[in-house]
Amino acid sequence: MELWQEMLRKSVDSSKDLVERFGFDNELAERLNKLFHIRINPYYLSLIRYPGDPIWIQCIPSEKELENDGFPEDPLAEDSHSPVPSIVHRYPDRVLFLTTSQCSMYCRFCTRKRKVGDSSKINMKFIQDGINYIAAHPEIRDVILSGGDPLMLTDFMLEKILKALRDIPHIEIIRLGTKMPCVLPQRITPKLTKMLRKYHPIYINTHFNHPWEITPEAKKACEMLADAGIPLGNQAVLMKGVNDDSDVMLELMRKLLTMRVKPYYLYQADITKGANHFRTPVSKGLEIMDKLRGHTSGLAIPYYVIDAPGGGGKIPLLPQYVIGRAGNQVILRNYKYDIFTYPDVEEEPEPTTQVEQPYLKKKKNGKKLQPEPVEV
Ligand SMILES: *Cc1c(COP(=O)(O)O)cnc(C)c1O
Ligand code: SF4
Repeated sequence: MELWQEMLRKSVDSSKDLVERFGFDNELAERLNKLFHIRINPYYLSLIRYPGDPIWIQCIPSEKELENDGFPEDPLAEDSHSPVPSIVHRYPDRVLFLTTSQCSMYCRFCTRKRKVGDSSKINMKFIQDGINYIAAHPEIRDVILSGGDPLMLTDFMLEKILKALRDIPHIEIIRLGTKMPCVLPQRITPKLTKMLRKYHPIYINTHFNHPWEITPEAKKACEMLADAGIPLGNQAVLMKGVNDDSDVMLELMRKLLTMRVKPYYLYQADITKGANHFRTPVSKGLEIMDKLRGHTSGLAIPYYVIDAPGGGGKIPLLPQYVIGRAGNQVILRNYKYDIFTYPDVEEEPEPTTQVEQPYLKKKKNGKKLQPEPVEV
């Protein structure tokens, strides 16, 4: 057994553990355990500094999960975009491929709570069905291995999947979405990186949410992956009490770059049953983005996105930089809120005080979307 597998076996993973180690009362611990799996491996557990800190909030169950908020289990309508159970095919040229339901830590904010931890939902037959689906659809050029965490598979199983995908001529790139460099960096071994590099181009998106997660162990794991020629991105989730603070976010983004990880997405927390208490107002996300752009390296700046409820996909949000237009002058503001004008190329027949956004005039459900007039 490899070290990471031994560590997993020592995880906190039962209601009894919650009672004995964290002083939960019996009944509460039972109810929480029934609702969503508990697993905190000893590495991630060691990052907790005090009860209720940003690490604790992400991994220790909370009474708030029991709030019957009436929100959906499948907020992104993934199941309705699943032609076979292991595939989510929402975009034209790429798919999510769910290869395992297991994770090395069960994040309390997980948006896929309905699936993860339940091994009946993803099995070998499902994996083969997924490969067959991908092979039969030449429009797919990008496959994202997800789950669960695909690095919960053994190197042997993972290699079988990668090999099968590389045998499909229309697959150009393979991505792995894995939280391992953050939650169990011991999973990244020389044996693993040696195997992965045979199947390039491979990209990895990992999932750090707080600067305290950036440890010497995590750094070593990311460096091993980068040295194997794998470009690394990060997908963070904006969460109340964890990272809803522009200084924390700035520190996180800068530290990621020191590990050669490029911030990729910052997600607005989804509306998920049992995880609603993590949500923040959209204005908070916009404020954070405003305090990143211009104030630090452009490389450190992720796209802030909302994954549209109901399955519309990721929608990027930006603070407002175009203030308006006067004649052919576009009026802009910079990161310090200084105002600038840019003489536009297109000639306007008449001066107008409205921003023309012709790209908004697309039809949706038969109705035209009209741009909002912007006051100058
Ligand atoms: C996020 C996501 C992808 C990948 O999106 P990119 O913007 O290409 O990173 C693909 N499929 C689904 C269903 C997704 O949720
Ligand atoms: S690692 Fe990902 S899939 Fe697993 S519990 Fe965390 S957020 Fe959910």
